Amino acid sequence: MGSIEENAREVLKNVERAAIKSGRTLSDITVIGVTKTQSVSDMERLFDCGITSFGENKVQEFMDKYGEVKRNPHWHLIGHLQTNKVKYIIDKVELIQSVESLSLAEEINKRAQKAGIISNVLIEVNIGDESSKFGIQPETAVQFAKDLEKYSNICLKGLMCVAPFVENSENNRELFRKMRHVFVDIKKEINDNDNISILSMGMTNDYEVAIEEGSNMVRVGTGFFGERNYRTGL
Ligand SMILES: *Cc1c(COP(=O)(O)O)cnc(C)c1O
Repeated sequence: MGSIEENAREVLKNVERAAIKSGRTLSDITVIGVTKTQSVSDMERLFDCGITSFGENKVQEFMDKYGEVKRNPHWHLIGHLQTNKVKYIIDKVELIQSVESLSLAEEINKRAQKAGIISNVLIEVNIGDESSKFGIQPETAVQFAKDLEKYSNICLKGLMCVAPFVENSENNRELFRKMRHVFVDIKKEINDNDNISILSMGMTNDYEVAIEEGSNMVRVGTGFFGERNYRTGL
């Protein structure tokens, strides 16, 4: 691993290569810097490399950094969100990537209404059918997307998945392809589908394969910052 600056150049180069391979360009892909356990000063270094979207998976950690960071990033909530914490983040994040129950959607809608905003969300799909992971089953994703239509203060933007950890990223290619199919199915089945445009898949270990299979949003932590240290992190 190099410095944050070197890693950022490397990741962007890889993203661009994969984008071109699939008939797109670097600007078609949103690269999220996953900043969990990282210091605010390291986040600011990454921001200054041109990575202006950050993802956090814990509400408390997000809130701390939100108040402290001396930049103005696009914030994404990418981890499991408890309904009782929606109120803290509703007007602070641009995209909630981890909607996976109607009770959570209900609360997001209610809080968005109260704040006078429309909340952008992705449906989290448990594409690898792993009991350890959150997300709805791919088979029920279309119905779930239809169920979200009744919430006037929620805007469905697309899908997100956390694929299984694999040594060889090729082993996730089929699952990314399956995600792509679910995405296409939802666009077909939802009438008001102009906003459904985001397919958030791919992390440090597999973002290139994910992009080749149609991802247009990748979430990269380790690839920028190196291994996370959970013991001393924050
Ligand atoms: C931690 C995390 C990532 C980034 O993982 P890396 O392997 O470090 O790139 C992406 N998405 C979610 C939801 C995460 O929790």
